[in-house]
Amino acid sequence: LASRTFNPVSTIVDVNGVSIGGKNIVIMAGPCAVESKEQLFESAEAVKKFGAKFLRGGAYKPRTSPYSFQGLEKEGLEMLYEAKKYTGLKIVTEVMDIHSIEIVSKYADVLQIGARNMQNFSLLKEIGRSNMPVLLKRGIAATIEEWLNAAEYILSEGNKNVILCERGIRTFEQYTRNTLDLSAVPVIKKLSHLPIIVDPSHGTGKSFLVSPMAKAAIAAGADGLIIEVHPDPKNALSDGAQSLTPKEFEALTKEISKVANAV
Ligand code: PEP
Ligand code: MN
Repeated sequence: LASRTFNPVSTIVDVNGVSIGGKNIVIMAGPCAVESKEQLFESAEAVKKFGAKFLRGGAYKPRTSPYSFQGLEKEGLEMLYEAKKYTGLKIVTEVMDIHSIEIVSKYADVLQIGARNMQNFSLLKEIGRSNMPVLLKRGIAATIEEWLNAAEYILSEGNKNVILCERGIRTFEQYTRNTLDLSAVPVIKKLSHLPIIVDPSHGTGKSFLVSPMAKAAIAAGADGLIIEVHPDPKNALSDGAQSLTPKEFEALTKEISKVANAV
């Protein structure tokens, strides 16, 4: 069902009035994690001002260490919902397990399946039984075929609203947090009709690499970007090193428009 042979026409996923896929480049931006109302609203206002259509922010965080900040959970979801009412931005946020699908669906416009859960088949099936738009991140060590099979799990249960997200894979390279596989963009376009966006924040782990890789992603044919933006990256509770300040995000959006107009 995910393949272009099955469906030659590129899928456009409609998220309550905003299209993903097709001609427009969609930008999702916001902090890694929801930390406080102030932090979230400051981020939301900034990303809205510079053209994002979606606010990202984790309320449930898949952290490498159990001692790291785990997210504000329901309280975080409520803050996201308030930010949505205040700015009109759509919300994309991660759902980590089957138990929280229902509550996250109440507050979010798009359910994010994180890299670590890309092959959580029971989660994929259950989300496939809902009609919520899904952002399916590529697993840390997943091949493109495994990733498309994960999408297939969702599609085969009836949910056609799948958006893929390349977020870097683990290689022997240590300088960057992950190796952003931009060739995945044209490969996915060849193999599948599903829209694909790129996450240069997790893909590189370093803020100075976010803008160049975001531009490269658009040049490669991506349908959009998901970018981490924090009002005070140095004091962020997660992923500060890869987060842009609102000012840096503004500069990035200007660069992106130039590339988008050129391709
Ligand atoms: C995130 O987007 O906050 C995140 C945890 O991403 P990933 O699952 O790609 O690591
Ligand atoms: Mn993050």
